[in-house]
Amino acid sequence: MNWLTNLIRPRIRSLVEPKDVPDNLWQKCAGCEGMLFHRDLLENMNVCYHCGHHLRISVKDRLEMMFDNGAYDKIDLPDVPHDPLKFKDRRKYADRIKDSRAKTGLKDAITIAKGTMGGIPVVIAAFNFSFMGGSMGAAVGEAILKAAEEAVKSRAALITVPASGGARMQEGMLSLVQMPRSIIAVEMVKDAGLPYVVLLTDPTTGGVSASFAMVGDIHIAEPGSMIGFAGRRVIEETVRETLPDDFQTAEYLLEHGIVDMVVKRQELKDTITNVLSMLMKKPQPEKKAKNGNGNGKKSGKGGNPKTNGKAPPASGEKASIDMEKDVQAARALGQVKAAQKAARRISKPPQKSAAKKASNS
Ligand SMILES: [Zn+2]
Repeated sequence: MNWLTNLIRPRIRSLVEPKDVPDNLWQKCAGCEGMLFHRDLLENMNVCYHCGHHLRISVKDRLEMMFDNGAYDKIDLPDVPHDPLKFKDRRKYADRIKDSRAKTGLKDAITIAKGTMGGIPVVIAAFNFSFMGGSMGAAVGEAILKAAEEAVKSRAALITVPASGGARMQEGMLSLVQMPRSIIAVEMVKDAGLPYVVLLTDPTTGGVSASFAMVGDIHIAEPGSMIGFAGRRVIEETVRETLPDDFQTAEYLLEHGIVDMVVKRQELKDTITNVLSMLMKKPQPEKKAKNGNGNGKKSGKGGNPKTNGKAPPASGEKASIDMEKDVQAARALGQVKAAQKAARRISKPPQKSAAKKASNS
């Protein structure tokens, strides 16, 4: 029987068994368990073409999808002391960061970039879930502040795209402080009269969902995204009730008024652009061209819209809007400084006088 096992069996096996196929060409959909071919999936923006399940998408693809022509300028993340607590569990936190940096090629769990959407200037701060679960530490908090400052400075809308497991435990209290800091950052954008839009993606949980991700002017979510604070099991054990199946999904939150819109990935760019153009009351591009008299906006003599002979009331109105914008921008810059001060104050230890009072009483 030796010839059978030695010769025939391998032959049959080679006929029946599949050839060596790289395992990253196909992947299984978590929604319907259907097989997805990588090229088709990419064309469909990482959305299952069988059932419409939205798979996670890399930050790079996300930014290319959102910005006009996929073009944007990356903004460098500010430097922060990493591993300030010299934290160690099973592994050193410093080593974990090093690994994640090597794996993703990114500095931390967030990427900030600026560009335009439908011609409207925007700054986007997008989370990378594959970098330590998109957790928010000092670097992420600092980056959100930077993104907000950039938005105010360039009169752009701010869009955050959280995909995060929450606060970064390895930074302890310092990661929790990023919650109020990020709120101050986005308030700065709102105070400057600029829109702040949150695009909630799968998953948005913990300290991120409990801070800047829930205070947007408009909350848009991708279908099926998990959005919540504590995990389902923890809540069930606390309230001792069985929760509905769709609990903590984008659709559930839409029904309960936390989310304004659930939008398919293919329609996201158009939807956000529409929202922004409404919120920013974007002037018509043709009007701007007609209004120009060759000297540019800041021209002295000829630039005065009121003495500009044929100027219709609309252009006068536009000029006053422009002036108002400049005034707002100037105010906003002042507010940036105030907010920065406030943010610094928060990260400082309590004042001596307070400590004295406490000891006196
Ligand atoms: Zn599917």
